Amino acid sequence: MAKIQMTTPLVEMDGDEMTRILWKEIKEQLICPFVDLKTEYYDLGLPHRDETADQVTVDAANAIKKYGVGVKCATITPNAQRVEEYHLHEMWKSPNGTIRAMLDGTVFRAPVLVDGVNPNVKTWKAPITLARHAYGDVYKNSEIRVDGPALAEICVTYPDGRVERRPIHEFKGAGVIQGVHNTDESIRSFARACFTYALSLGQDIWFSTKDTISKVYDHRFKDIFAEVYETEYKEKFEAAGIEYFYTLIDDAVARVIRSEGGFIWACKNYDGDVMSDMVATAFGSLAMMTSVLVSPDGKYEYEAAHGTVTRHYYRHLKGEETSTNPVATIFAWSGALRKRGEMDGLADLCAFADKLEAATVGTIESGVMTKDLIGLSTLPNKQGVNTMAFLNAIATRLSDRM
Ligand code: NAP
Ligand code: MG
Repeated sequence: MAKIQMTTPLVEMDGDEMTRILWKEIKEQLICPFVDLKTEYYDLGLPHRDETADQVTVDAANAIKKYGVGVKCATITPNAQRVEEYHLHEMWKSPNGTIRAMLDGTVFRAPVLVDGVNPNVKTWKAPITLARHAYGDVYKNSEIRVDGPALAEICVTYPDGRVERRPIHEFKGAGVIQGVHNTDESIRSFARACFTYALSLGQDIWFSTKDTISKVYDHRFKDIFAEVYETEYKEKFEAAGIEYFYTLIDDAVARVIRSEGGFIWACKNYDGDVMSDMVATAFGSLAMMTSVLVSPDGKYEYEAAHGTVTRHYYRHLKGEETSTNPVATIFAWSGALRKRGEMDGLADLCAFADKLEAATVGTIESGVMTKDLIGLSTLPNKQGVNTMAFLNAIATRLSDRM
């Protein structure tokens, strides 16, 4: 059988620990036998980030800007313990943070659904994709511990000397205050990324804030979304037969639980942080959660939502068997290959991505799964296998489909 050809390289970003091991196996067993894989390779493993003073992360982000599609392995975000463990020159920043900032992107997370691993919410039949605004609010705040009676105010000083000032609270005793911000520009990029992604999936999009209480701050989000929708997306949505729906966050939470899924839920930074963990857990497992970063001008970076699975890696290093779930990483590859296929008009590459996903899901539905899924699965014939046996089972199934 002739291998499927590619015309433009994927930006491939290798990573760390257990996921780096999965990465190599996925390529060797599931992709390279069938696709004449073209990638531009960037080693984002921590040792190489350290050697290049993190330049490799910047180069990789620039490559995504150039080619349009990247696929990334999970990477270590260094802390003090990692600086010691890897003898790092510096505590390098999170690669995901760097890439997100350079692409000005929004992260969309969606679970992979399989029969026999049922969502905890009985009505959910299709994935709910969570879109989290990844700039500002409480994540870029300024806080003060007030240690006694005091007048707290917010104050904005313009370059022309104009000053706007409002009281926050007149403290009779000790307390706390916090200042947060966002920018029209970032909110607008978030809105565009959400609407663009909804069109690419052909799904409705919901957006929710607390605008009834936060009449200026959250209301600004609501207004910008409405304005971007009306001026740039309304006609395209109507043509695609999909809807934009705004509602108060309280109402959204209730509707999400009652829904059947199959839509995108856009949230402000904090809401998205918390709700994505809830949605992922309610659907089953973090190991089944995919993630894609989309820039407002339509560049895509695919990855798994989980980390490098350090605990499994240390067991692997000791020669012990591990049962690490590769599903989210496989779907990062299939997502990236499909998007490359769509952009380059390569129908067979898109079809391969579909087959790879079907072989992966089919393997689990046949009862063969990694051990993290055993407790969640309702299949009577379920069998927990190690990582390599699971990948082998997918490879066999995929060969049959090809
Ligand atoms: P983690 O790697 O997601 O793993 C946490 C735990 O979740 C694991 O110990 C494992 O539980 C379970 N788990 C996660 N993925 C799994 C999979 N594919 N198969 C089976 N079980 C899975 O999070 P972490 O341990 O907090 O972080 C480890 C490193 O990853 C850190 O250095 C962090 O900086 C990095 N990280 C990177 C990214 C990214 O690149 N996007 C995201 C998050 C974290 P059991 O041990 O109970 O089996
Ligand atoms: Mg969180």
